[in-house]
Formats: sequence, C-alpha cells, structure tokens
Amino acid sequence: MNQVDLFTADFAERPHWWDLAPPEPCEEGDLPQGADVAIVGSGYTSLVAALYLARAGRSVVVLEAEDAGHGASRRNAGYLGRTLKRSFTWLEEHHGAEFATRVYRELDAARQWVFALVAELGIPCHIAQCGRFIGATSEAHYKDLARELEVMRRRLGFPYEMIAPVDLRRELASDAYLGGAVIPDLGSIHPALYHRGLLQATRAAGVRVFTHTPVTALVRDGKTVRVTTARGTVTAREAIAATNGYTPRHLGWLARRVIPFEGFMAATEELSPALMAKLIPNGRTVLDSNVNINFIRPAPDSRKILFGGLTGSRPCDLRDMGRRLHAMVARLLPDLVDVRLSRVWKGQCAGTFDFMPHVGRHGGLWYALGYNFAGVPMGSYLGLKLAEQILGKAEGATVFGTTPFPTLPFYRGDPWFVPLAMRWFDWKDARFARKGA
Ligand SMILES: Cc1cc2nc3c(=O)[nH]c(=O)nc-3n(C[C@H](O)[C@H](O)[C@H](O)COP(=O)(O)OP(=O)(O)OC[C@H]3O[C@@H](n4cnc5c(N)ncnc54)[C@H](O)[C@@H]3O)c2cc1C
Repeated sequence: MNQVDLFTADFAERPHWWDLAPPEPCEEGDLPQGADVAIVGSGYTSLVAALYLARAGRSVVVLEAEDAGHGASRRNAGYLGRTLKRSFTWLEEHHGAEFATRVYRELDAARQWVFALVAELGIPCHIAQCGRFIGATSEAHYKDLARELEVMRRRLGFPYEMIAPVDLRRELASDAYLGGAVIPDLGSIHPALYHRGLLQATRAAGVRVFTHTPVTALVRDGKTVRVTTARGTVTAREAIAATNGYTPRHLGWLARRVIPFEGFMAATEELSPALMAKLIPNGRTVLDSNVNINFIRPAPDSRKILFGGLTGSRPCDLRDMGRRLHAMVARLLPDLVDVRLSRVWKGQCAGTFDFMPHVGRHGGLWYALGYNFAGVPMGSYLGLKLAEQILGKAEGATVFGTTPFPTLPFYRGDPWFVPLAMRWFDWKDARFARKGA
C-alpha cells in the first residue's frame, strides 16, 4: 500500500478505547491533610484496592499524576487470561508442583473474579468469554503447546482444543500458523470502559481521586507516611504504590525491581461485516506461541481489528510504529494488506526479573505490580489482595506475596537492555522452531 494512504483521514495517535472512554480529570481542589490510606496511581490496582478499603470504612485518597486512567489500564488489549511468561511446567520443574499449582489456580481465580466484579458493579464493558486462539509459529511450538495444555488439563482441569493446520481457517483467515490451540474459557473486555466503571464505583464508595497530583516523595515516619505531592502533603496511616510500568525512580527499592517497557497497538479502519466474519470467524482473541508475541482481536465496540506486537522496541515515532505493525498484521492476515490504520498508540508495561507479579510491603510502603502483560486480571485481583492485607484479613494471603522480589546488581530502573532482551527472545523462538520439538 502507498505509505501516504496507510492512515485514515481521522487517524490519531491515541488508543482506540479512548473514543468511548478517554482518561478523565477528577478532583483538583485542596488535598485533605490526612487519610487512612493514600494510593499512588489510578489504574485497576489502585481503584480495586481503594474500593475495598472504602467499603471497609477506611478514608482513601487516590493521587494520580495525570488524568485518571492515564496509564496502561485504558491502553491495553483487553485480554482476560490466566497466563504468565513462566509456564506451569517450568514453575513445576523449578519450584515444585505445589507452587506451580497455587500460581495457576490463583491466575484462574483472578480471571473469574474480574467477571464476578464486573457483574456485581454492573459495568457495561463488553466483557465476554470469547475464548483465545494461540497460533503455533512452528511444528515445535505446536507440539510444545499441546504438551503444556494437556498437563494443565490433567492437573488443573483447564480446557483446550488443538486446531490442526488444515483447520486453521476455522479460527483465522491466515496461513501463517502451523495450527494452534483454542482455550475456550478465556475472556476479553473493553479495558477503558472497565476502568471507567471502576472509577465511578470507587468514587461512589467515598474515595477521593485527585488528578494532576504527582507524588514526589513517600516517607514513613513512625506510625504514619508523609506523602508529598506537587500540590501539598497528605499524612496517611498506610500508602500504596500502584504504579506498575509508570513507577517513578524516587520509589528506589521498587524502581530497582520493575522493568518498564513499552507495548504498542494499532486499530484498522472500519471494515465490512463480511470481512470481520472472515478474519476471526469465532470472534476470539488471538496471539501466537512466541515469547515476544503478536496479538490480534476484533474490537468489541466497532468493526475494527486491533493488534499489537514489537513489544519492548526502542521508543520511536508512532506513525513509523504503525507502518511496522501494519506490515506484521498484513503478513499474518493478508486480507488486511490494503486496509488503513485509524489509531496507533503505546503504553507502559512492567516486567520483573522472575517474570512474576509481586504484592507486599517494604519499608512501610505497600505495593502490587510487575504484571508482565497480565495486569487486567492480575492488577484487579492483587488490588483486592492488597486491601485485604491492609485490613488484616486472612483472605489477603496470596502466592504472589510469598517469594522474594528480585533485582540485579547495578539495576536502578533504567531498562536499557529491554530491546536487546526482546531480540534475544526472537532469536530463541526462531532457534526453537528450527531445532524441532
Ligand atoms: C499496549 C498494552 C497492551 C496490554 N495488553 C494487556 C492485555 O491484553 N491483558 C492484560 O492482562 N494486560 C495487558 N497489558 C498490561 C496491563 O494493561 C497493565 O498491567 C495494567 O493496566 C496495570 O494496571 P495498574 O493499575 O497497576 O497500572 P496503570 O494502569 O499503568 O497505572 C499506573 C498509574 O500510576 C500513575 N503514576 C506513576 N507515577 C506517579 C506519581 N509519582 N504520582 C502519581 N501518579 C503516578 C501513572 O500516571 C499511571 O496512571 C497491556 C499493556 C499495554 C501497555
């Protein structure tokens, strides 16, 4: 396609989701002098923790540097899964069967809990159990996928169906994969409408959300924490960092443990109903079996295809990124070769050195972060666990609070190595594919 024509007349460098639910300003008046709990950040982690603390009678202030929902919570792909970069069998081999089982049971509980929360709060956010198709990029990946999914079916009861290469077009208008697998009970959501519903419920429960209020320092002083912001100071009994991929350097201990990296996405222009039905006939979320995944899904609110990849690439111009993402999607779905892009955007994610999310308390500061691309269910769920832990409830116990939160010597929060690491994952995927199973 002529590169000039690649972008629609109404093209914008912002998330598709913001057409219906852009980030929003909240309170910007005087801060209260004191609160039971102060929370830094206004994504899913923050709002769920705030909601449950407020319901238990605690006074809560949320302090957000930008508009509410400025972070990844209104920018992500809306996949509602139970997956981590560490597979069940890897965890079993390295940490034992009991640990692996607890991790994957809780991942599944998190996914189910989001469905229950959305139903309880009555949030209209297109939540659906659409199922996920995982495309195998090689025969070796197909065999590996089948082996892993069968272990999880036997041990945990998680359902799946293998899709032979000849049946690929039942799931995707593509010849790029050597078959794959369908996981029927995984879901999808409109991430920004979900976030907006959480924000409304949280504020209705009495939580005060202050926007354009960057927190510049958090200092525990005996029984209280002094939370300094650009607009004044709040003294709180407890403070939570819910900043995931946006964690500021001044949170030194945490900044040394999370690895921020950028995720990129694009939306096509409006497509015909016939083309939409052909591209992803069962309306599932799609991703591939690589470590550095490409992902594709139908928008739930319009006839557009949303897709992403090239995660962790060096920061670059978003139109350039749109061109690269378009080339990727046209290779996977050739029907999109002449289709234009209406939106391209990016957001900050957070990895960790052990590829696991972490929740806990250090130096008098609570935290839940490091979701490794699984923050829709895990951010929501660990927000709940944080609230339960602060309230002293036994239900707050979680396997994601039981392991040390690792860092590396000399790492201070500057993720210069992420583009190199992603290229290394690409090389490993290609090598694995060449070697066979
Ligand atoms: C492109 C992309 C696609 C993704 N796709 C998926 C997916 O399909 N499924 C999935 O499960 N996960 C996905 N993720 C990850 C998921 O979106 C995140 O893990 C999740 O939203 C994190 O939520 P959070 O509440 O912890 O943080 P965020 O929503 O990122 O919020 C952090 C907030 O902290 C604020 N903040 C930072 N510093 C300060 C400060 N000093 N003072 C005040 N405020 C501050 C920031 O402004 C930001 O608003 C994706 C992420 C991206 C970027």
